[in-house]
Parts: sequence; C-alpha cells; structure tokens
Amino acid sequence: MSKPISLAGARPSGRVSSVDDVLALVRARGGRATISRRVILQALFDAHRHLTAEELAEAVQSRAPDIHISTVYRNLDDMQRLGVVVHSHLGHGPATYQLASAAHAHFLCEVCDATIDAPDDLFKGLSKTVMTRLGFSIDPIHFAILGLCSACQAAARASG
Ligand SMILES: [Zn+2]
Ligand SMILES: [Zn+2]
Ligand SMILES: [Zn+2]
Repeated sequence: MSKPISLAGARPSGRVSSVDDVLALVRARGGRATISRRVILQALFDAHRHLTAEELAEAVQSRAPDIHISTVYRNLDDMQRLGVVVHSHLGHGPATYQLASAAHAHFLCEVCDATIDAPDDLFKGLSKTVMTRLGFSIDPIHFAILGLCSACQAAARASG
C-alpha cells in the first residue's frame, strides 16, 4: 500500500491521495498506467522534500534499476502534459517536481536558501486583485517568490 503524502509541508488533497488515484487520473486523460509511471509517482509520494529530475531518477533506480534515466525524464514530461505532475523553480538550480494534486507555491530566502511552503489560500486575494486591475492571471507555483526569512532578517538587524 502507498503511504500518505509525506512531502514537507504538503497538504493532503481530498481528490488524489494515492499512486493508484493518480494513475486513474492518467488513464482518464488518455495516458497509460505503466510500471515506470507507478514507480516515479511512488517516489514523488515518498519524497520528504521536492526532488529534481536527477534526484527523482536516482530514487526510481534505487527501487527499479531497470528503468533508464531517459525513461524517467520522458515520463515526467508526459505526466506534466497529462496534468498530474508539475515542476517548480525554487532557485538557481534545476527545477523540482511535485504532484499536481499537492502543488503549492514557495517562498525562498535569498541568503540561506530556506524554502517555505505557501498556504493554499495565500494567493487568492492577490490573484483576484491582479486579475481585476491588470487582467493578468498569476501562477504562483511555477517560480518561488524570493525574499529574506525571519532568521536572516534578525541576523541582518544584529549585524547592521
Ligand atoms: Zn534565510
Ligand atoms: Zn513545497
Ligand atoms: Zn519551468
């Protein structure tokens, strides 16, 4: 059986709570529920932090050494097209991958690289305001919002 979502800070979604649920969604959207996809999704569910494609490929190969790294990359692309996986840029490094059902925005400290998961409701007011005033639909999940964490603000005050 699959474990509950243990992604740091991720809130469980009422809709999708297991690998089987995600694979059902893949099939409903015309995709195939392959072994590779199952192993990749399980690795995403089991991850304690957001993994890059390379880290995900490592996690997959530790479970199923037969699955080639290029298969992992191709399936990540396919599952993004099917809307069950999304990627986020949390800084200067490579993108990280999340399950679409648990996807959320991030704040990233520019000094210490601390990453804070944003609560789901945080951007609702801003989304509405930006849409009303600029007619623009914001996507807070794709890129992290940069700034200073509270510890780094305190350190800056202490040394300033
Ligand atoms: Zn910091
Ligand atoms: Zn996160
Ligand atoms: Zn991107």
